[in-house]
Amino acid sequence: MRPINEIIVHCSATEAGKNFKAADIKRWHVQGNGWKDIGYHFVINLDGTIEVGRPMATKGAHTTNHNENTIGICYVGGLKYGKPADTRTEAQKKSLSTLIQILKSCFPAIVKVSGHRDYANKACPCFDAGAEYQKFVK
Ligand SMILES: [Zn+2]
Repeated sequence: MRPINEIIVHCSATEAGKNFKAADIKRWHVQGNGWKDIGYHFVINLDGTIEVGRPMATKGAHTTNHNENTIGICYVGGLKYGKPADTRTEAQKKSLSTLIQILKSCFPAIVKVSGHRDYANKACPCFDAGAEYQKFVK
């Protein structure tokens, strides 16, 4: 297993209420971008279901220059009427918290939760991931 010390949260940049699945995102990344696999390690559906994406042992393709030692989690949503917005459902919020806590217990070296926007000039994931989830990895 590669060393993991950080979780980076993303959104799928899709419209609120539209339930895309990991298979859809994988298709965009593989057929659209020409990548080998989906870029994220986990996808959280609107109903809170946690889907596995790229195997955690393989580095992701989600945050330029920050894929080596991180796990990428993507919640489905992030747009409201075409504009960036925190569209997480209550179920998605719960699953994000749970998943981050599980990952911390699996990889105690995780000491940071951040959002894509902390590393790029983007809105993704459309909320302050560190402010909300950093407490779980202290
Ligand atoms: Zn992102």
